[in-house]
Amino acid sequence: MSSAHPARAVVIGGGTVGLCCAMHLLRRGYEVTVMDRGAPGNGASGHNAGLFSVGNCLPTSTPGVIRSVPRMLTDPHSPLAIRWRYLPRMLPWLLRFIASGRPAQVERASVAIAGLVKQALRAWEEVLPPGASEGVVINGGHLLGYGTDAVFAKAAFAIETRQRRGIDMRILDAEGVAGLAPILEGRFRHGVYIPRGPWADPRLLCAALTDLLVSEGGRRLSAEVTGFAQSDDRVTVVETADEKVAADVVVIAAGAWSKHLTRMLGFATPLDTERGYGVDLPDPGVDLPFPIISMDYHFAMTPLPGGLRLAGTDELAGLEAPPDFRRADRLVDATRLVFPELRTHGAERWMSYRPSHPDSLPVIGRAPRHTNVYLAYGHGHIGFTLAAITGEIVGQLVSNEDPALDPAPFRPTRFRILERG
Ligand SMILES: Cc1cc2nc3c(=O)[nH]c(=O)nc-3n(C[C@H](O)[C@H](O)[C@H](O)COP(=O)(O)OP(=O)(O)OC[C@H]3O[C@@H](n4cnc5c(N)ncnc54)[C@H](O)[C@@H]3O)c2cc1C
Repeated sequence: MSSAHPARAVVIGGGTVGLCCAMHLLRRGYEVTVMDRGAPGNGASGHNAGLFSVGNCLPTSTPGVIRSVPRMLTDPHSPLAIRWRYLPRMLPWLLRFIASGRPAQVERASVAIAGLVKQALRAWEEVLPPGASEGVVINGGHLLGYGTDAVFAKAAFAIETRQRRGIDMRILDAEGVAGLAPILEGRFRHGVYIPRGPWADPRLLCAALTDLLVSEGGRRLSAEVTGFAQSDDRVTVVETADEKVAADVVVIAAGAWSKHLTRMLGFATPLDTERGYGVDLPDPGVDLPFPIISMDYHFAMTPLPGGLRLAGTDELAGLEAPPDFRRADRLVDATRLVFPELRTHGAERWMSYRPSHPDSLPVIGRAPRHTNVYLAYGHGHIGFTLAAITGEIVGQLVSNEDPALDPAPFRPTRFRILERG
């Protein structure tokens, strides 16, 4: 930057994606303000399974997804469910989601996701140097566990796709699974082990990132963004109820709520939310050596410093509907099927909002009509994993550097941009 004063960047959203964008802008010499209406980790970034899901390169919609639609609509407990009341509003998203499950689309999406995933850990190590990640990031692998031969057989397409994308993984039979740790003896018929797949307590990670931001000179403002002042094709001021913050660059990284902000600027991408549920068990009586994803029930069991976190499932019901905590209770029931010794005393249930586009790809790029607004949202099931590489790409795009990978698959204009009103 050539001007006497550093350029001012405002990042809207203090989840992991916003914080990683902020760190990259800060380290490029910007004066950075992160605005978030809640405490660090209040969004999906603090309420997820905490896995660096480097074995995951598949979109949520895969060939045959259409066959699961009747169950989605009729069984409120199915791993992917939609509330009837929300169906009319969700229909355009749902139709795009189903269309995204065509084999050619899935192939393209998996190439794009794998491109991000393969750089995810390196990017995290650069955002969070060893001093900052110590005691937060736990190194090791994680396991996808299959309880029956039938579930494993159904996973053939996903496993083959991972293999084609060169994902580092080991396919195990029951004996191989048991060989990973004695507690796994007799628990799963098959497994896929991701040897380099660390994890973290997401609340600790959000707090560590926020501390790092402040220690390197960034500012975090606890406030809700309510509007923008614009001049020609630029946003000049970001407004909250109490403050107007001048901006040379604006990044919208507000997770599932990003569509409210882009609408204020006259456009929106087809962003909705895949709601997920969780249960934190402070004294589970099950001592897992590493996280396990139950592929039978589609949720993760993650051992964290404060106990065991169960997290997952997918509910299409928008941002306003009250939580249905029976979905969280199902996670406990499903864990008990594998670990009958599970204890639930002191359990805390929660729900959070994955920000999701129907093609399971995030938007990372410049806004369609504003030359100083950048978009970083829609990371769906793997935003915790992809936050650092997203921040890196945003930093590079803002500074006109060559990006770490071709961002074309993530461009906002891949959708027909929805106009305001
Ligand atoms: C059950 C579950 C399990 C998951 N497990 C994993 C996993 O193991 N690994 C993985 O990689 N991903 C996982 N995910 C996905 C991951 O959590 C999300 O993709 C990711 O956290 C999204 O991060 P974000 O920063 O975009 O959004 P968020 O963390 O939601 O942050 C958005 C922030 O914007 C703020 N905000 C919104 N509007 C405004 C406004 N107007 N003004 C000011 N602030 C505003 C909100 O307060 C919020 O803090 C999981 C998700 C769920 C639900």
